[in-house]
Amino acid sequence: MSWDGVHRFACTTSLRYGRGAAQEIGEHLTGLGVTRALLISDPGLVAAGSVALVGSWIEASGIALETYTDTEPNPTTTNVHAAAELYEESGCDGIVGLGGGSSMDCAKGVGIIVRNGGRIGDYRGAGLVQRRVPPLVCMPTTCGTGSEVTSVAVITDPDLDFKLVVVSPHIAPDVGLVDPDLVSSAPAGVIASTGIDALAHAVESYVNRGSDPVLDALNIAAIRMIGDNLRTAVSDRDPEAIAQVTLASMMAGIAFNINGNAIVHAASTPVTARHHVPHGVANGIFLPAGLHAIRAGCVEKLGAVAEALGEDVTGLSADAAADLGVRAVRTLCADIGIPATLREWGVDPADVDIPQLVEDAMKSRNIPTNPVPVGPDELTALYLVVVGGDGAG
Ligand code: NAD
Repeated sequence: MSWDGVHRFACTTSLRYGRGAAQEIGEHLTGLGVTRALLISDPGLVAAGSVALVGSWIEASGIALETYTDTEPNPTTTNVHAAAELYEESGCDGIVGLGGGSSMDCAKGVGIIVRNGGRIGDYRGAGLVQRRVPPLVCMPTTCGTGSEVTSVAVITDPDLDFKLVVVSPHIAPDVGLVDPDLVSSAPAGVIASTGIDALAHAVESYVNRGSDPVLDALNIAAIRMIGDNLRTAVSDRDPEAIAQVTLASMMAGIAFNINGNAIVHAASTPVTARHHVPHGVANGIFLPAGLHAIRAGCVEKLGAVAEALGEDVTGLSADAAADLGVRAVRTLCADIGIPATLREWGVDPADVDIPQLVEDAMKSRNIPTNPVPVGPDELTALYLVVVGGDGAG
């Protein structure tokens, strides 16, 4: 593993992971000085009983509780401002994000507004948040986004059909409580799509230009854990397999929070905003063809991905091992029910405006990170394959 220059590593979030970690919520909020918490979640977590359970632990610690449970998948600017209003009106002094990336990102967005004012769209981009969010604890219930440890919030503006990405060290959670027992109630489809999202994070952070030996160590271990466990996490809902994928998701989150992702996230994000494909499903659809598109810049690393996913690369040329890496990713996606194309997911190719998607994707922070130059031509080629073709690689 070689690298050059001076690299940065930071993980500002204090993490507690393992069964039972969620039950510590009260002591962490108390430690952060919170007396009235706003718990932000969504209807699926209400139905699963997680909101009532976590709320009871919070109240048992003598902390007053308000709840906002209307967060939509791909949370909207409307969600953020409605919950921020509730925070202000009810005099809260701390926030808990309980859910997948949607609820955790909504929680970050609320923190931005109540401390900095204005509209969430004012903070799109990197470094525009001036004041740190109030005490914030995030508790993931899916095994994919890593939002419990990232300095990123992704909020959809429904008027523009565009996902605003806000990046700031001031929005990283104070505490992340990663408890696999919170994930086990998720439907198999959510475990599949978020598990493949975690794989996309680990592989894209591993192959991108900002990778280094520290991030490689986290990412390759996460890829191995996902390869060994995601199939049984989905098919058997095996608790140990779910725990492994949940931990891998956190590890990949720590890594991509430093160096970002690559072409897959750049290309998939506008599709989730304009065609409402779930984030993880979209990343799974784009992952094999996206890796094939940037293969020339990461041949050796794709061979290592093949190995980490359990393939035997003995005696293979570097090129053949790289191809095997892409194939292993495609097979894993197929085995857990991720569609091969957007058409297969139900998006009519006639409704897809590829030039518009390319324009949106070129605004992503995951364009310059690619190991080979990626511009409108490369993105157009990728969209042509993924929209309705039969994949590449
Ligand atoms: P999600 O939060 O949208 O949840 C998907 C669905 O699963 C919801 O209906 C929810 O109710 C249900 N669900 C979640 N956990 C459950 C459980 N344990 N039991 C029962 N139902 C459960 O899904 P997600 O994929 O985790 O998050 C996607 C969002 O995260 C997107 O908006 C994406 O852009 C964002 N994201 C953010 C980051 C970041 O670093 N901030 C990284 C990646 C993705």
